[in-house]
Amino acid sequence: MAGASVKVAVRVRPFNSRETGRNAKCVIQMQGNTTCISNPKQPKDGAKNFTFDYSYWSHTTTEDPSFASQRQVYKDIGEEMLLHAFEGYNVCIFAYGQTGAGKSYTMMGKQEPGQEGIIPQLCEDLFQRTGENTDPDLTYSVEVSYMEIYCERVRDLLNPKSQGTLRVREHPILGPYVEDLSKLAVTGFTDIRDLMDAGNKARTVAATNMNETSSRSHAVFTIVFTQKRRDQMTSLDTEKVSKISLVDLAGSERADSSGAKGMRLKEGANINKSLTTLGKVISALAEMVSKKRKSDFIPYRDSVLTWLLKENLGGNSRTAMIAALSPADINYEETLSTLRYADRAK
Ligand code: ADP
Repeated sequence: MAGASVKVAVRVRPFNSRETGRNAKCVIQMQGNTTCISNPKQPKDGAKNFTFDYSYWSHTTTEDPSFASQRQVYKDIGEEMLLHAFEGYNVCIFAYGQTGAGKSYTMMGKQEPGQEGIIPQLCEDLFQRTGENTDPDLTYSVEVSYMEIYCERVRDLLNPKSQGTLRVREHPILGPYVEDLSKLAVTGFTDIRDLMDAGNKARTVAATNMNETSSRSHAVFTIVFTQKRRDQMTSLDTEKVSKISLVDLAGSERADSSGAKGMRLKEGANINKSLTTLGKVISALAEMVSKKRKSDFIPYRDSVLTWLLKENLGGNSRTAMIAALSPADINYEETLSTLRYADRAK
């Protein structure tokens, strides 16, 4: 049975210097949870409205009521998902959007006070909460893995020795998994932060060596959170295991098919395939929930990304998606297609 429908947020970033340099106009307006995009070619009647769980503004001033700080985005989405993990659900948060629209900023952020993204805030909050536990019968353990999926191949970002790609297999009970992927036990936030830093560095280095950019791969940071409770009477342990998957997706921009050849064309086709499949999986799950159907065909197997996220999307799980938007008229087409994608996920 699928869980509740997907929580969907959109977030617009401020203008970047390229957009300011080209005198770009803002095509996005937000009011409450509604986002309005106006067509720069038809400013009068080309506006479209979309409603999401949250519409986050970060554009002009922090006084704007829609302005959302990194903290706010974490509080609304990250914390809710973390609480679901404590309840025993698998959870998944992913960031979708064109390259440069703010996916990594939302997920990872920067290592400056107030600039950390969802992933470091969630990890810190997780250890804060487990550290407050005073119940001697309850113990926690946390393991992390960090991988990237590039052209349907999986690379381990936490094992510098693993240069090649890893095999995706299926366990009869536990479902799809990556063979030999490092899963490292961590006992505090600084452990996780060090692993995250090492993984991010490995991602950039690998991308440079392969003459690609990290925006062409999906980065999947996974936390396996285990809560073990000992029954005093029987001395038996029961375990609740939750998988928290935090995904920075590849850039959603269309590869320019006219100029793309060989590897670039293959890359583009693979990215489109996994993002399209993810969209199909999410809308199929949402439809199952709304029509209260128990089973339906969900095309998980059509991409490595959805196959590996199977247990985090369907089944006993909760999902949130944040679509990152550029405010500028020069990105109108891509931004509109991001809004449509987000709209289909609801
Ligand atoms: P992506 O991961 O989608 O390619 P980034 O997250 O790297 O994009 O964002 C591109 C640039 O915009 C970065 O310099 C980032 O710091 C900045 N940025 C993105 N979103 C925001 C935001 N909400 N507020 C402030 N700066 C942002």
